[in-house]
Amino acid sequence: MNATLALLQKSFYTDSRYFKKIDYNEKEKLMARLNKKPKYIFIVGGVMSGVGKGVAAASIGRILQSRGFEMTAIKIDPYVNVDAGTMNPTEHGEVFVLDDGMECDQDMGNYERFLDRDLSGANYMTTGSVYQSVINRERNLGYGGKCVEVVPHIPLEVLAKIDKAISKNQADIAVVEIGGTAGEYQNVLFLEAIRILRLKKPGDVLLLLVSYLPHQGDGTELKTKPTQYAVKTLNSAGLQPDIIIARAVLPLDKKRKEKLAFNCNMSEADIISAPDVESIYEIPVNFEKDSLSDVICGKLKLRSRSRDLNKWRRLSQSIKRARKPVKIGIVGKYFSTGHFILSDAYISVIEAVKHAAYSFGCKPVIEWLNAEKFQKNPASLEELSGYDGIIVPGGFGDRGVEGKISVIKYCREKKIPFFGLCYGMQLLVVEFSRSVCGMKKAHTTEIDSKTSYPVIDILSDQKKNLAEKNYGATMRLGAYPAVLEKNTIAYSAYKQHLISERHRHRYEVNPQYIEKLSKKGLIFSGFSPDKRLMEIAELPKNTHPFFLGSQFHPEFKSRPLQPHPLFKAFIRAAVKWK
Ligand code: GLN
Repeated sequence: MNATLALLQKSFYTDSRYFKKIDYNEKEKLMARLNKKPKYIFIVGGVMSGVGKGVAAASIGRILQSRGFEMTAIKIDPYVNVDAGTMNPTEHGEVFVLDDGMECDQDMGNYERFLDRDLSGANYMTTGSVYQSVINRERNLGYGGKCVEVVPHIPLEVLAKIDKAISKNQADIAVVEIGGTAGEYQNVLFLEAIRILRLKKPGDVLLLLVSYLPHQGDGTELKTKPTQYAVKTLNSAGLQPDIIIARAVLPLDKKRKEKLAFNCNMSEADIISAPDVESIYEIPVNFEKDSLSDVICGKLKLRSRSRDLNKWRRLSQSIKRARKPVKIGIVGKYFSTGHFILSDAYISVIEAVKHAAYSFGCKPVIEWLNAEKFQKNPASLEELSGYDGIIVPGGFGDRGVEGKISVIKYCREKKIPFFGLCYGMQLLVVEFSRSVCGMKKAHTTEIDSKTSYPVIDILSDQKKNLAEKNYGATMRLGAYPAVLEKNTIAYSAYKQHLISERHRHRYEVNPQYIEKLSKKGLIFSGFSPDKRLMEIAELPKNTHPFFLGSQFHPEFKSRPLQPHPLFKAFIRAAVKWK
């Protein structure tokens, strides 16, 4: 830390770039922060997966941010995969992409949405990436000939990565979420990291258990025993939780709080009730009903600087007040897992629709439409008329692709507001080429490598990756700038010339077809500054209420307090079309 400080001090006073950018007060604040010891809040899950650790972590970040602290949030996934990019969405949900191109867990999206802050790849790690760093260092003689062992070297690497993320974000406090559930073999080394850190920095580390209380009978009696066992499991790893977030269908009554506190060696004030809510955006406000930020500040001996959750309170009230429904269909294929419908694969799309809908005082009604159904039974396309807007989100491969194309055709012809995201934009171009430009079998070469009209083709620098089966973290990833054309839907949405959006793709609109498509009326309203890569395609406002596709993923940058401009334009059109 001292070395960093020295470096910063030097650069502040000698490097004119910093001098101009950072005023004296800001410098002071930064120095003070770097001199201060950061605090760590670890979140682990108990009883079962899917209890809402991610949203709890994000909400804790938000309430502490509202108390004036500089917050950051870190996710640790127990998988051996080095990042989430190679995981199938039906297995693990959405692959979220950060500005720097890191492909990570969907919880990172929750952190960004709740903290209203861009995070970086430093805030995400997996068992795979931790081992990879340790092995790389060992190969470079970084351990100076020592025997490198699972303990302590793996947990120490975890702690080093956490500290790196904290200093990169200049944070006072890091909320660190450990994936998986207490008692699982997979996350033992992460629990060991918490134990070591507590030993090294007593007073600076807090452990929160997000646990689940099942119920019986009429559902009013919540059962505490599984949570007691979860605490015992943590105890056997040398850890005692400081706070329990008790997830349940209902708020916890006093009796249950007493029982948990007594059996888990805690005080009642440390048991926070977290009942089911209609919208996840109510959670920060709910946590504060049990004074969670006060409890945390007390335990970490933090002097809070303010208390301002007003914007968030207003958001949560406007969600409750939203009445007029706006019905959006999402046409995808990553839904089914056994007998369940899993919407997790499209979580950022769903949230982005909600943010935009709330901003118009509308209640979003989102339904899943299986692309394969439209392929098998074209008559079912009529159902689409029952929606105010249709989205074809990102995707890969051929399953359901003709179904998606027929949906796009139907929306174009029946003038139903349509929004295509990445693959959705590419298929919009395919459909337009086939139906309007007379290129009957036009396709993307991802599906038909021999098509006579390859209107969507592989990016030139991606050919090598596919040939060498070099799939991990090699797509065109992360933030790239795009220039917008005036007098278009895109420009009137963003109201600016230059934008930056996040990407994740290997294919692009084939430059050879741009002229032909444009002549037939498709407007490329956004493109890379060198004009090589098409970023947005749309139909003129006077011919269709909203027919637009983006090569990037706007959903990754939508925030509840700052809905994304394109989603707002789409929902505005949907409400009007209704
Ligand atoms: N499969 C397409 C490509 O790789 C689209 C990817 C996506 O939708 N994220 O270009």
